[in-house]
This record gives sequence, C-alpha cells and structure tokens, in this order.
Amino acid sequence: MSNLQVLKNRVFKLERLEAKQRAASLICTCRVETDYHDANCLESVLKAQANFACEVHGIRDLGPLVWIPDGMPLIRDDRKFCVCPPNSGRTWAEGGPKPAFEQTQAELEAKFKAIFDPNRDIQGESDRINALKAQYDEQIERGLARLGRRRLSYEELAKIELKRAKKDRLVWV
Ligand SMILES: [Zn+2]
Ligand SMILES: [Zn+2]
Repeated sequence: MSNLQVLKNRVFKLERLEAKQRAASLICTCRVETDYHDANCLESVLKAQANFACEVHGIRDLGPLVWIPDGMPLIRDDRKFCVCPPNSGRTWAEGGPKPAFEQTQAELEAKFKAIFDPNRDIQGESDRINALKAQYDEQIERGLARLGRRRLSYEELAKIELKRAKKDRLVWV
C-alpha cells in the first residue's frame, strides 16, 4: 500500500470516528407519548412543544397524544404549559403539599357541576381535540415527506425513551 493510500485510510478512519462522536453527542427529543387533560391543555402543550426539531431525527415526534384525567400530572416538561384549573390532587402527585379534605371535596363538586352542566359542549370539545391531533399529524407527515423519512414506530420511540431513561438514571415522567 502506498504511503498516500495509508494516509487516506487514516483520514477516512478519523472522519468516520468524528462523525460517530458527533452523532453520539446529538440529543433526541422525541417522545414515546405526550399527555393532555382537555382541548385547551392539548393546544397549549402542542404550541409549546410541537415546533422543536429533534437533532437526531430532524422532525420531533411527540408520540401518541394521550388523554389523562386532570388529577394526574402531565410529563414534567409540559406541566408549566397546562392551562387547566388547579387540582390539589395533581399538585400533590407532582410533589406539592397534601391537600386538605375540604379542598379536594370542593374541587370534586366543581368538577361534577361542570360535567353535568347542560350547556357543556361535549361534541365541540371532542371535535377540537380531533382537529388539533389531525393538524399535528399533518405537520409531522409534511416534515417527514420533506426529509424523505418515515415516522418512527411506537416500538422505536419506546426504545429511545428507555435508553434515555437508563442514561439519565431516571424513570420516565
Ligand atoms: Zn428524535
Ligand atoms: Zn392540563
């Protein structure tokens, strides 16, 4: 092998190593799941989180958009974007103070009053949620088409999340 060839091989190896190191330092911000409490909450979370790019995948995938009851906390990064009325059970689950019985009772009563409100527009709320989800999916698909990529499968997202959790020694949420 000529000296030039040896040198070329060496440069090639170094370049490959550098590319590998660069790829390893990129941070994937895709998620296995994103939660919301209602249409306003979903809109607020999407507004805050849907327009970020993922350094690794280009388009950031927030995973399936999943409804959770308002007494349950959102993913940590999304909590400040929750626009729902305060819920002392949720605050408690997030590490806040244990609520007084009277407080949880009052919140429960207010909640049931809202649920049984004859003017409550259940269909309208459901339509809004579906429209927000469709709009988000469209945005993702458009971005992926531009990059010539397919969407990550749920299994692939789960693997990424697990790897990240192990690396950070964190349990997801
Ligand atoms: Zn990613
Ligand atoms: Zn919320």
